[in-house]
Amino acid sequence: MPHLNPYLHHPPKHSHITMIKVGLGQDSHRFDLDNPSKPLVLAGIEIKDGTPGLLGNSDADVVLHALTNAISGVSGTNILGKVSDELCQQGHTNSSVYLKHALHSLRNLEVQHVSVSLECQRPKISPHIGAMKQNLAHLLSLRLTDIGITATSGEGLTAFGRGEGIQALVIVTVGNRID
Ligand SMILES: [Zn+2]
Repeated sequence: MPHLNPYLHHPPKHSHITMIKVGLGQDSHRFDLDNPSKPLVLAGIEIKDGTPGLLGNSDADVVLHALTNAISGVSGTNILGKVSDELCQQGHTNSSVYLKHALHSLRNLEVQHVSVSLECQRPKISPHIGAMKQNLAHLLSLRLTDIGITATSGEGLTAFGRGEGIQALVIVTVGNRID
């Protein structure tokens, strides 16, 4: 019987091992119906179709928050909560700042792929997917082909599907930086 695994008796040297980790993040916000001047921001893109903004101390960017949580799921360093609250009190309400802190916590690992899944009845996501991908590619130094964004209304079964807010789920794949 030939050995199917060529490394069984001669394991690869440490420098050849590529480590892959996967992180899951989730976030949700309800619409801020009492603040009509608050913009709706998703993945750093302002959505100007009349949909209300989301309730929260920051810009309440539910996509960047779920992405930040997904990265924390890999690094083990939580950013949303205590750290983001402090940053918010210092005047940092742009959620890309929280994302940058999460990326920094990855140290010598880098994000290689992002998958975003949104649940909402409004806004209609498909017209904005191109711009959202462009900005995520910019924030994460990724190619557009390394980012996927899908959206569903979930047939109105949840508060998100009934138009009361937005839920985002994000999975990130993170690996060794190859120099
Ligand atoms: Zn949030």
